[in-house]
Amino acid sequence: MNENCVFCSIVKGDIPSFKIYEDELVLAFLDINPFSRAHALVVPKKHSAGLLDTDDDTLAAVVARVKKVAARIRETVKCDGFNILQNNGAAAGQTVGHLHFHIVPRYGSGPVEFVSGSGDMQELAKLAEEIRFGG
Ligand code: 5GP
Ligand code: ZN
Repeated sequence: MNENCVFCSIVKGDIPSFKIYEDELVLAFLDINPFSRAHALVVPKKHSAGLLDTDDDTLAAVVARVKKVAARIRETVKCDGFNILQNNGAAAGQTVGHLHFHIVPRYGSGPVEFVSGSGDMQELAKLAEEIRFGG
């Protein structure tokens, strides 16, 4: 737990999020400023800054959950494809210093861009309910 970390606060429940998957090691929730519909983030519960700071066991668990959650998203929102994005360092566009994998669903055959939208809370809540495991 890092006191100043937004994702640690989300893991702890101090900041609300639209959760779609949770187990003892990993949490997945919808991105608040999505690149596309059902853009999700998968994070380890244990804080690490980025890929190179994360122990291999944790990383393996997170990547396995990325696969699981991506499959669930694809099945639920019927996207045509998805990108996995993982930024390390400000120069790479990392804005939150807690390891996270983006799952960015893609629809149709438009240009592949990473442009944030502003999340509609009602839409995110509804989507999270649809995607959430066991929901
Ligand atoms: P990065 O640019 O670091 O790879 O991605 C960080 C992502 O976290 C961004 O897409 C941003 O929209 C998302 N984000 C930042 N703060 C919050 C938050 O409080 N809640 C949620 N759900 N997403 C957040
Ligand atoms: Zn953290």
